[in-house]
Amino acid sequence: MITLTVKVETLLDRSEKNMGSGIHPIVKESALEMVKRAYKEGIFVQISAGYRSMYEQAKLYGQGRLGYSYGGLNYSDLSKPIVTYAMPGQSYHNYGLAIDYFIVSDDGKNALWTVEAKWRRAAAIGKSLGFTWGGDWSIFKDYPHLEMTGGLSYSQLISGVKPILISKVNGTPPPKTEVELPDIEEEMPPKDSGNQTIKTIQSTLNRRYQAKIDVDGFYGPNTKRALIKGYQTELNKQYGAKLNVDGVWGPRTRDASPNVREGAEGNITYILQAALYLEGFNPRGIDGIFGSGTELAVKAYQRSAGISADGIVGENTFSKLFG
Ligand SMILES: [Zn+2]
Repeated sequence: MITLTVKVETLLDRSEKNMGSGIHPIVKESALEMVKRAYKEGIFVQISAGYRSMYEQAKLYGQGRLGYSYGGLNYSDLSKPIVTYAMPGQSYHNYGLAIDYFIVSDDGKNALWTVEAKWRRAAAIGKSLGFTWGGDWSIFKDYPHLEMTGGLSYSQLISGVKPILISKVNGTPPPKTEVELPDIEEEMPPKDSGNQTIKTIQSTLNRRYQAKIDVDGFYGPNTKRALIKGYQTELNKQYGAKLNVDGVWGPRTRDASPNVREGAEGNITYILQAALYLEGFNPRGIDGIFGSGTELAVKAYQRSAGISADGIVGENTFSKLFG
């Protein structure tokens, strides 16, 4: 005679239906995992109950009790024995956080309520998945019962606090023994995007003199060379200097330098202001107008360079700036 063994899918289907739609998703997931793991050990577990509404709880509580009503309805049913001591709201089933189970015969046709080795093994599997087992309670043992409370009391749950449950279905996450390093990207200061004034100088040099330098806001050799090229271009244009526009400071360029002083205006003044700014002497405006701010910057620069601080920019000062 061939005995057909109940399929795990059958147990899972029945269990899922019995838990109801109000079951907490992690409780449900863990319960179904318990059924699967037990099945692999030859233990056929079926979940018989899960979420229970307050009215369903009232109906159970009314069994065996005289004159019990809930929500204005009579739930007293003396034809049945007392089955629970939990009034509505006093069971984790009412919050979808508890399940009940039993063992099924090999053919899947009978519920076996005897608490024996298989029953206890099923409970142990449930506990490994994060459930608390009613069979462990000391005062009133509830062998079919498994719950996940998230550490919340009934009154907390009634007031609407939501439990935070941790699923152990895919293995328990290892305890964190190492200090987690902060995300370097986040801890670093924002990447230096360069100086806006230098960017303006660079784009002006590109526009006026086709310098083709990066507008990155950083002062480097390319920007300095572009500045000298601009200066050479202006000397050729304004003074007929006939210089090689190569961006290299040499005697010919030096000798072609005019004297520039307060009151001067134009592109040479602009280049002078830019050069001062790039050397760290802010002329308070890079506008091509040699005003008092530019003169102060020139004098400060001349002092730092160890040349006569007369505020007049000639060969010596240009040589210091561009050489
Ligand atoms: Zn229960």
